[in-house]
Amino acid sequence: MEAVQAQVLSHYRSELVDRIRARGHLLSADGMTIKLAKEFGFCYGVERAIDLAYAARKSFPLDKHIFLLGEIIHNPEVNDQIRNLGIQTISNKPTDEEIGRLRSEDVLIIPAFGTEVATRRKLEAKGCILVDTTCGDVMSVWKRVRQYSKESVTSIIHGKAKHEETKATTSQATAYGAGHYLVVFNLDETDYVCDYIFHGGDKQGFLEKFKGAYSSGFDPDVHLQAIGVANQTTMLRGETEEVQRRLKSAMAKKYGETELDKHFRFFDTICGATQDRQDALQKLLREPMDFLLVIGGYNSSNTSHLAEMGEAKLPTYFIKNAAKMVSDRVIIHYNQHLNKEVETRNWLPAGKITVGITAGASCPNNLIEDTIRRLFELRGVSVHELIEQ
Ligand code: SF4
Repeated sequence: MEAVQAQVLSHYRSELVDRIRARGHLLSADGMTIKLAKEFGFCYGVERAIDLAYAARKSFPLDKHIFLLGEIIHNPEVNDQIRNLGIQTISNKPTDEEIGRLRSEDVLIIPAFGTEVATRRKLEAKGCILVDTTCGDVMSVWKRVRQYSKESVTSIIHGKAKHEETKATTSQATAYGAGHYLVVFNLDETDYVCDYIFHGGDKQGFLEKFKGAYSSGFDPDVHLQAIGVANQTTMLRGETEEVQRRLKSAMAKKYGETELDKHFRFFDTICGATQDRQDALQKLLREPMDFLLVIGGYNSSNTSHLAEMGEAKLPTYFIKNAAKMVSDRVIIHYNQHLNKEVETRNWLPAGKITVGITAGASCPNNLIEDTIRRLFELRGVSVHELIEQ
């Protein structure tokens, strides 16, 4: 990994961002001030995953086939770079046919958010060489969920049921025994579960509502009697705490405070990097700003939560790269509630303005630099002037 660090840096580093960071995270020119959040961009788990992928390419002979399961992280530019190294992509949950096409000497890279137990077992059975970049913080959620499973405690996972990390986590709940899981996405779903715990209700309705988000054989009348809460590492901290609090209160009402230990467990599994980026943005949002730019892949969970925090306070544009700032009149940005890109006109005010900028844990600094440069260009400040500052 040491041998590839210079190459990785050359692909993703930004001198401009380093300089802004060194100057108190501020840059001003021609009436526009940008404020960078104190923590933003690549986290330790992402850096390690990328280093490992580059190291794999360097370590194995060039004629060795290296495959990546899905995306290394949720950033399209980084995934393109990985493909440019000659690493091929196969689906994150390969079919038996896809696995059948692999050869036992092939190398498979497991991404930072891990893979499902069944996929891993199939690849091991095939004899492939695995380069596992799963982040340690994700593995500590798995450990917790496996423990719940061993104790016949159903894992309630606060997360996105279709996200690769949550799929990998839920697979841990069922792989080593008769464990069960249920994924809740938000507080409305949590309240629905709490109500069912306390009052019971329409079982078919429950199973229909959470279709695709529970383990095979899950019965809410049976498997909600002892529950343990965990979460996808990149959820909103405040929401996760509220999910825990509401479920705990429902179990206490149902079984009584003295019996609560037998029926309820929880473990906070938000990762440090997600927490730091959310805390830094919360601090930044206390300052007066005209709008916020959030940079990152649209399928990145931690980035979408940063955008959500911004939206609650001020105009927020979630963009995956600088090209989305089409002109000073038009910006194309991701609306996560509509699940598509939308266009906003007259987004860049004239005169004196302050712009907040943050980026998700999977966004490299070079993309942040591109965004900053583009923003100043649209205000008529040359890139040269910025560099000279
Ligand atoms: S966001 Fe957190 S869990 Fe995900 S790779 Fe980064 S440090 Fe690991």
